[in-house]
Amino acid sequence: MTERIHIPAGKPYDVLIGRGLLAEAGRQVREACPKAEKAFVVTDDRVAELYGESVIETLRAEGLRTERLVFAHGEASKTVETWARVMEAMCAARMTRSDVLVALGGGVTGDLGGFAAACYQRGIDYVQIPTTLLAMVDSSVGGKTAVDLAGGKNQAGAFWQPKRVICDPDTLGTLPEEEYRCGCAEIIKYAMIGSAEFFASLEKTPVRDQAEQVIAECVRMKRDYVQADEFDLGQRMMLNFGHTFGHACEALSRFSILHGQGVAMGMSLMARAAAARGILAEEDKDALIGLIRKYGLPTEAGWTAAEMAEACRADKKAAGSSIRIVVPEKIGKCRIQTVKTEELETWLRQGGAA
Ligand code: NAD
Ligand code: MG
Repeated sequence: MTERIHIPAGKPYDVLIGRGLLAEAGRQVREACPKAEKAFVVTDDRVAELYGESVIETLRAEGLRTERLVFAHGEASKTVETWARVMEAMCAARMTRSDVLVALGGGVTGDLGGFAAACYQRGIDYVQIPTTLLAMVDSSVGGKTAVDLAGGKNQAGAFWQPKRVICDPDTLGTLPEEEYRCGCAEIIKYAMIGSAEFFASLEKTPVRDQAEQVIAECVRMKRDYVQADEFDLGQRMMLNFGHTFGHACEALSRFSILHGQGVAMGMSLMARAAAARGILAEEDKDALIGLIRKYGLPTEAGWTAAEMAEACRADKKAAGSSIRIVVPEKIGKCRIQTVKTEELETWLRQGGAA
């Protein structure tokens, strides 16, 4: 059964979740962009090999002319250079403003393809076909698109909503275990910021055994944040739980740890700090850390509090002398708190850092 979730953004669209949906990707793109004559598929080499041909076939079956750009998988490709390559290739293919870009792959593909769609001819339609758990529950929904600059991750980007998001959980069958776990880190984050009931269901039933329901639950939660705060000026920041310290861990590892692993470390540090400050009950802290472990994710970070505080200050979320962090109050509830950057080291030490 296909679940349809409506995202009431400035430009509204639907997220479809259902096993086997990839086989009707063409029909979905056609329905979302009826005027399109061409579909330009952006995908990385791994995903191209697994799903590229079959998706392109479904597009052709709808009478769409197709072109593709395949880039080398990995965050290292999420650059201005690849973004420019995508747009040059679209130009060479004579894509017009009524045509559509299809981003087929994980968050790197979605962010990169989305940003190319946002800029090419001042903005053309695009459809997201996420193939990682992380992209299904997080990056494909909400319209944040970006590439990295030498100076930092996601430093160039735009808000540009897709015309449709097509999630086929069957594609997760080929996803490497480590990548799957990273998606689980974001899923645990959703539960911790918004729903004790969802948290309990993750404790009881592995994500793998309820993937469709879990994806739908996360998308509904993300929808609510996007509806309330499309341009990330207030409440949407809640989705950053675990990310401030997590980004610091990622940066200090020189990006040798995966994003989800950083988020897992960040959530653990923050939970221990909140417990030490009497904001979060010990048992809730233990439950969160227990769940993170259960999903095979790290709960300790190997850097000193001073190193991590410095890395946080370099992060884009630091506004001058203060920084906004997301602090857990109980399972299913967090709050946004502004702290002085010089206090971060104390938080990190309370979080268990040396
Ligand atoms: P990714 O796109 O690099 O995918 C991870 C790896 O999995 C890649 O090697 C890819 O080739 C492979 N892969 C993808 N689908 C597969 C499948 N079905 N089977 C086998 N292999 C598959 O990374 P990601 O974790 O999906 O996304 C991370 C990116 O998302 C980061 O750049 C991050 O900044 C971004 N992000 C954006 C938002 C947003 O709101 N826009 C939110 C969260 C994360
Ligand atoms: Mg994230």
